[in-house]
Amino acid sequence: MDEEVKHLGAHVTELEDRELEVMEVLEPLEAELSALGAEADGLQGTARSLREAITAGEAAIDAELDIERARRVELAVTVAKDLLARYEQLRSRLGGVGAARLVAGSCGGCHLALPSMELDRIHKAPPDALLTCDQCGRILVR
Ligand SMILES: [Zn+2]
Repeated sequence: MDEEVKHLGAHVTELEDRELEVMEVLEPLEAELSALGAEADGLQGTARSLREAITAGEAAIDAELDIERARRVELAVTVAKDLLARYEQLRSRLGGVGAARLVAGSCGGCHLALPSMELDRIHKAPPDALLTCDQCGRILVR
């Protein structure tokens, strides 16, 4: 009987030691879990703010697009029909850009430098002349 009590006592001591070991391992893990939980809360808050900012940005862009589309319709009626048709055809064929600015001797659409003879011809052309890029065909604006 004594032997059994001794044996059980030793077993209880062993279990208490193991419990202490487990608690020592568990404490830093619980602290880390708590810190990660707080970090996750912060990140979820940031994600929510960013989603709201994206939604607001998209709404602002959509509103601006509506205004610009309406303005485009108003302006398009002031452009000669054949010129507008040519522009629209170029625009659909050339990735949405039917006209480009002439910048420092280069076409703003294809970015290729125009030959000096062509530049000379452009500079001598009357202000209302329709100019086009020899390389890409876009309407050039001086
Ligand atoms: Zn060009």
